[in-house]
Amino acid sequence: MPMIARVAVNDATIHFDKLYSYRVPPELEAQLWPGGIVLVPFGRGDAPRMAVVLETGSEDEPSPKLKSVLAAAPEDARLTPDLLELVRFLKDRYFCTWYEAVKAVIPYGAQYRPGVKDGRPVVQSRLTRPVEQVYELAAPLPEKPKPGPRQKMAADLLQAAGTLTRRELEEQGVAKTTLDALCKKGVLRVSERYKSLDLFASIPFDPQPVELSAEQQAAYDQLAADLAAGSPRAALLYGVTGSGKTSVFVKLIERTLELGRRALVLVPEIGLTPQMIRRLKSMFGSRLAVQHSALNNTERLLQWRMIQRGDADIVVGTRSAVFAPLQNIGLIILDEEQEHTYQSESAPRYSAHEVARKRAAAENALLVFASATPRTETTFAAQSGRIRMVTLKNRYGGRPLPGVEFADMRAELASGNPREVSARLAEELAENLRRGEQSILLLNRRGYNTVAMCTDCGEVLKCPNCSVPLVYHKNRAALLCHHCGHTVHPAPALCPACGGKLAYSGFGTQRVEEELQQLLPTARILRMDQDSTTQKNAHEQMLARFARQEYDILLGTQMVAKGLDFEKVTLVGVLGIDSMLFGQGFRAYESVFSLITQVVGRGGRADLPGRALIQTAVPGHPVLQLAARQDYAAFYKEEIAFRKLCLYPPYCSFCVVGFIGAQDGAVFTAAHRFGQLLAQQAAAHPGLPLRILGPAPMNIAMLGGKYRYKLTLKCRNDAKFRALMRAALDAYAAEKLPAKATVTLDFNSDGDI
Ligand code: ADP
Ligand code: ZN
Repeated sequence: MPMIARVAVNDATIHFDKLYSYRVPPELEAQLWPGGIVLVPFGRGDAPRMAVVLETGSEDEPSPKLKSVLAAAPEDARLTPDLLELVRFLKDRYFCTWYEAVKAVIPYGAQYRPGVKDGRPVVQSRLTRPVEQVYELAAPLPEKPKPGPRQKMAADLLQAAGTLTRRELEEQGVAKTTLDALCKKGVLRVSERYKSLDLFASIPFDPQPVELSAEQQAAYDQLAADLAAGSPRAALLYGVTGSGKTSVFVKLIERTLELGRRALVLVPEIGLTPQMIRRLKSMFGSRLAVQHSALNNTERLLQWRMIQRGDADIVVGTRSAVFAPLQNIGLIILDEEQEHTYQSESAPRYSAHEVARKRAAAENALLVFASATPRTETTFAAQSGRIRMVTLKNRYGGRPLPGVEFADMRAELASGNPREVSARLAEELAENLRRGEQSILLLNRRGYNTVAMCTDCGEVLKCPNCSVPLVYHKNRAALLCHHCGHTVHPAPALCPACGGKLAYSGFGTQRVEEELQQLLPTARILRMDQDSTTQKNAHEQMLARFARQEYDILLGTQMVAKGLDFEKVTLVGVLGIDSMLFGQGFRAYESVFSLITQVVGRGGRADLPGRALIQTAVPGHPVLQLAARQDYAAFYKEEIAFRKLCLYPPYCSFCVVGFIGAQDGAVFTAAHRFGQLLAQQAAAHPGLPLRILGPAPMNIAMLGGKYRYKLTLKCRNDAKFRALMRAALDAYAAEKLPAKATVTLDFNSDGDI
């Protein structure tokens, strides 16, 4: 009976993401499995399209209309059953398409695209050279006809070395034509092998025994018991900054390996991977792989294959590493678990917390969330006993947390200082310079001047495609849209609307850098933000130079706030926090509390005591006061009461439904109609918790020339709710509304979009 495959195709929309049946030609039968990547003819013109096989079966009745699969990718590109299970999970939970889920689970480099070879459609690897040619001797070099000197050389080299790659032979002066000729004669055998790549070969293997403090040991003992349990467990490791959570991780990983299992360690951003890798690699050696987006496609795929082959015991990476094809996982760690980077902002809009929980359940692993300022939801889960709470109350070595003070920016302005750097902060920085100690300044905004505003009509220059102000970039003397890249060059002096004079106001890292340089001409300042770290490894190199004390002041955005551990840092300054404090999302206070705690915690980590200064116009604000005292328990009490009173997570699930389309009115109407359809579905289930708010325009009401609205849902995200949501999406599609506005669902948003 002919075999058929049921597949999901690339580039579907959530409204039209069905499984399609294809006949499997006999020559491909041995190459098709669920999870396999294939090429199929699709749509009116039968253009080749990538697809993933979800089911295989046999054709009950021959159906003449069935088209045939064109080609299949090799088996090592296949989603193993556990990864296929994750694809199903993503699809069900986050309303993405099948293929979006596939792309999240297999890194870009492992993917294939349609190609043509000898007039036939084939699947083509996106990598140019994932493999290398390896040569070995297959037979002695014949005496006749007399071999040339190059042929003899090739044979001699291989005789001595056993195997050599083509590159190695070429470097010795053996040309490819020579090798080809020898292969043809049967003297050499060539095979392909995946390039191996040791990304961190320079880090020495130098395991130092870790002696835990009494408090760390107590934390470890509790977690180690869960690790050995062999059933899914989860815990929150809540430890103040500098309490030595990493030392506890190292011990736990060691124990995991002793138990014959493997460990997955997630960090919130690329900037934090080098330190973690260095620490783990020196401790555990080379059976460590890395997965993050700063690797190029080849590196990423080679690391992926290394994990897939079972050659890695530890995987370190950012959010997407939660999909690493690691088998026999005993331990999953999410370090700095409060970071929003653990939630994906493009489809599939997944949360690494939830995927990690799913994997821990499938593998009977221990899942550890670690933080000095855990998410309110995580602490709630710990307090209500659903996950274990393990606490490190003290800094390692009994070092005190830095003392925190405020600089009142209203008083500063009243006293005639127009600068962004307060007099007090300038003094403290100068003091640190004299003492030869280092300082970290956090400023959460990039660019030079934020906006160009007309002094006559008050107009702010905005991007014509996006409803956001253009940002002035001094080094390019241009105005730039941070969303679509629209550029106005040179930056105008006069208002395009009324001809009045434009004032460039606002502030950013570049401007503060200039102020600092004026105030402290001898200071060596390192600016670290998205603009200065675009080059590969820029991040790591900058931090290494700061660690070597080639700079006095590290000034930067969020990326300087987290995880860094420099012993000479004794002063931390926080600038521009107020705009975050008055953000729209329900997590605004949590984010401010966390960011201040994190950055303040960078100071005074070694022998020298630390101090911190927060610049604000509202020094009496309760969240700032709590953050200054670094009193997480008190903050949590306030926050959870607010979440309960105003009905926010963990007391409900929060979902933002986005609508995007070309015509303002049509998008609004479509959003409105979706709300009605959902309400109709819900009406059939009395007692089901659901509140629908909106439609309202998104914060950025137009982006890239498209209009944007949102509905905000407070619900309970369970199977019943998701079935209802799917029914509403189907009804929306049946009314042909996707043509007016495409829909996206985000269960991780805090509403500030
Ligand atoms: P956290 O991640 O909790 O903020 P770290 O793990 O960075 O803290 O540890 C803070 C500092 O204390 C680091 O310099 C670290 O080397 C040191 N430290 C922590 N635990 C130990 C230990 N058991 N032995 C020696 N040094 C430790
Ligand atoms: Zn724009």
